[in-house]
Amino acid sequence: MAVFCRSCGKSLADDARFCPGCGAQMQPPFVPPPYYPNYPTTSVTRLVRPRMGRMIAGVCQGLADAYAWDVVWVRVITVLLTVFGGGSGLLAYIIFWIVMPEEPLMLPPMPPMPPPPPYQPPSQ
Ligand SMILES: [Zn+2]
Repeated sequence: MAVFCRSCGKSLADDARFCPGCGAQMQPPFVPPPYYPNYPTTSVTRLVRPRMGRMIAGVCQGLADAYAWDVVWVRVITVLLTVFGGGSGLLAYIIFWIVMPEEPLMLPPMPPMPPPPPYQPPSQ
């Protein structure tokens, strides 16, 4: 595979780390990341507006997801506060709508990878 300097376009050796023409540093060779058996290991509870299960903006669903509440109760309390609380439920909803970021678009999680097979010397 031919490698070219990204600064001057000079053809380089595959393993060159510096361009002999202009001295620009080349990209380090690609190193596969180490194997993490439980990667990702942490799932941080974040206050986001999920894209699934939302009614209006996902505020109630996001609060329910973040604190393991029942989304039905969150919605009931919001409506009750809106009707009987002088609109405070609606106000809180709008504030959360502004403050809470929308859940980032994510691809479905990859299935867990099996551990790499142990090295076996070729049998001759
Ligand atoms: Zn160069």
